[in-house]
Amino acid sequence: MHVQLLAWTDEPERTVSAAARLCYSSDSASELARKMTPEKQASFIEKLVDMGHQSPLEHASFTFAIEGVSRALSHQLVRHRIASYSQKSQRYVEESSFSYITPPSVAASPEARQIFAGQMEHIREAYRRLCEIVPKEDARYVLPNACETKLVATMNARSLLHFFQVRCCRRAQWEIRQLAELMLQEVRRVSPLLFKYAGPRCETEGICPEGELSCGRLKNKDD
Ligand SMILES: Cc1cc2nc3c(=O)[nH]c(=O)nc-3n(C[C@H](O)[C@H](O)[C@H](O)COP(=O)(O)OP(=O)(O)OC[C@H]3O[C@@H](n4cnc5c(N)ncnc54)[C@H](O)[C@@H]3O)c2cc1C
Repeated sequence: MHVQLLAWTDEPERTVSAAARLCYSSDSASELARKMTPEKQASFIEKLVDMGHQSPLEHASFTFAIEGVSRALSHQLVRHRIASYSQKSQRYVEESSFSYITPPSVAASPEARQIFAGQMEHIREAYRRLCEIVPKEDARYVLPNACETKLVATMNARSLLHFFQVRCCRRAQWEIRQLAELMLQEVRRVSPLLFKYAGPRCETEGICPEGELSCGRLKNKDD
């Protein structure tokens, strides 16, 4: 899996804090942005997060190049609707030599690995044969969830905080959790203040909303 932050709002923390300050000031946004010191930015962003006044966070956007992930993952990712996506098309891109993602549990078992790899070969062969008979947009129906894909995804900071809350959680599947952790590392590089408290709720708020499905991490910490 490869994740790279391709583009982001210039000075995201200054932009967000100036937008937040604007709500309580008669000054213009450009004047507020000009006067905003790093200390003021930090204190505004802390306050926003504390108060749950999250809409100013929407003024900072982050665009990621995501490669080497499965179609199973991309299906989970695009459920996050407050975002923009572009994905490699299986209608237009030929997939007869498709790469695939092997889950760690499969990789760890020689028997599972053999079944899995063998099935991928069968699917490649079926796809190639189908492409000789039907358009590739129809042949692709035989392709697996494991098929490798790539995307560009853009989310604003508010949507990202929500994404990190649910997808950095141990209840999320390993692949999207790995993606979320890599995305979090990337945005923390350029905006440590906005993402200071990003992550699962057990880490950021000391609560777990998962009930019976909880991984038990919080409980074990208390024991
Ligand atoms: C551990 C885990 C297990 C899951 N299991 C399943 C499963 O078994 N089956 C399944 O179908 N999905 C499952 N999901 C996906 C989940 O239901 C969400 O679709 C996904 O996490 C995206 O979350 P979201 O809708 O909050 O995000 P976004 O679409 O990014 O929305 C962010 C927030 O905006 C608001 N919002 C967005 N759209 C609307 C709207 N139309 N109306 C009102 N408010 C809106 C909500 O407050 C929402 O939380 C699972 C997710 C996780 C993390």
